[in-house]
Amino acid sequence: MKVLLVNPQFPNTYWSFRHALSFEGKRAAFPPLGLLTVSALLPDTWERRLIDMNIKPLKARDIEWADIVLATGMLVQKEALRQVVDRCKAHGKRVAIGGPYVTTGSENLPAADHIFIGEAESTLPLFIEDLEHGTAQPVYRATEWPPLDLTPVPDFDLVDFESYSSISIQYSRGCPFHCEFCDITEIYGRVPRTKSPAQLIAELEALRQTGWRGSVFIVDDNFIGNKRQVRLLLPELAAWQERHGMPFTFLTEASVNLAEDDELIEGMRRAGFRSVFLGIETPVESSLREAHKLQNTRASLLDSVRKIQLNGLQVMGGFIVGFDSDPVDIFERQIDFIRKSAIPLAMVGLLNALPDTQLWRRLKREGRLIEESSGDNTSCALNFIPKMDPARLVEGYRSLMRTIYGPAEFYQRAIDSLKRLPANLPASSHRGLFNGLAAFFRIVFKLGLLDRQRLEFWRYLTHALFITPRRFADAMTLAAMGYHLRTLTEGFNDEGET
Ligand code: SF4
Repeated sequence: MKVLLVNPQFPNTYWSFRHALSFEGKRAAFPPLGLLTVSALLPDTWERRLIDMNIKPLKARDIEWADIVLATGMLVQKEALRQVVDRCKAHGKRVAIGGPYVTTGSENLPAADHIFIGEAESTLPLFIEDLEHGTAQPVYRATEWPPLDLTPVPDFDLVDFESYSSISIQYSRGCPFHCEFCDITEIYGRVPRTKSPAQLIAELEALRQTGWRGSVFIVDDNFIGNKRQVRLLLPELAAWQERHGMPFTFLTEASVNLAEDDELIEGMRRAGFRSVFLGIETPVESSLREAHKLQNTRASLLDSVRKIQLNGLQVMGGFIVGFDSDPVDIFERQIDFIRKSAIPLAMVGLLNALPDTQLWRRLKREGRLIEESSGDNTSCALNFIPKMDPARLVEGYRSLMRTIYGPAEFYQRAIDSLKRLPANLPASSHRGLFNGLAAFFRIVFKLGLLDRQRLEFWRYLTHALFITPRRFADAMTLAAMGYHLRTLTEGFNDEGET
């Protein structure tokens, strides 16, 4: 059996980092971990090829080669997924689709032969058996959230490492919280499931054996969802990293209550974590309560962010405007918070009702849903009727984005954030993201010579050299990522689309 695994193209969003990747000479941020895992679940005798359309096109000869096409997608890839399915069906191929978009139960799924709802570990073995007996079914629905010890080491052999800026792995699925707008608990459940330390380290060892060094994104939606297990993992992870000369630096996502746990922060830092993405959402307590995000109301959010930064982790943050409880000055309050928190990479989105979330169900009951979300958190399109005047909300959002990604504002936050890192934190390694000289010269050429805001860049570079010299590589990485976010923001057109 010849299997073609296809990851459709992502649009240009925050997480694509498309405008930053060219500095580094990379084509995409991360390889498609879900498909690498699916590949590892297939029988050894099956031939497989991976086409990640974010690094290369899907050609007719690739489709012709295959007996079956397995394609995946997140909500934001839904149109690209539909096109892939249509093309492969036009070639007369059997097509199966799965992944988060399919799992959240859209009524308008592409016309594939087989649809996988839920996690593949519990459905793929049955499909393989049915396929071999000629009895494959149109729908395979996982009836449980499988334990992660069923998850194999991803098939890293399929990855073109030269094309990616970072490599993704996963430690846990699920989150114990219940934020109203979030689809993670709907897809993966509220009881976090984790891999054992030995299992995760086996994955890292497999990755190390490929020769990859540098950035590894642990893609969990909440890495500390099961703190007890994470406490067991971190010392083993740190020991493995030390034994191998710290080959990887980790980035992950976590809930803000990480700040309550000194031992956990220290353990993450020692294991090689350098950045964490926090779902902060809003400084307005009534909006947090409305969103059932009570874990963010237990302590000062500014103090929590500062504490994590002072203990050696750079903080990226997710923010939302458009809650029913948002006051009229929400935009100014968000700007003020983002400034004071010294979070350079602040990803602000308009509230969207994702399919099958609590928010989606509430708005449906209230008759306020307009259309299915695009899943693009940089989009200015509203998919429900907000309490605030929609025109005011969209204009306030666009103005907020233009403010926080104005070069002077952004560079100031970047310097402030680097100053908060402890002096004894080891300097960034000379491997991985944006550390090469070629990347440095590309950044200087683009931001220091071609960019109309080049004076701000030179001021920033001077500050980075004299105020935070040990963090110079980080400063250049932030400049490149800030450029990506600024370029996205400048792309907002008059209709409010990006
Ligand atoms: S903490 Fe994050 S992952 Fe967990 S439910 Fe809330 S938004 Fe979702």
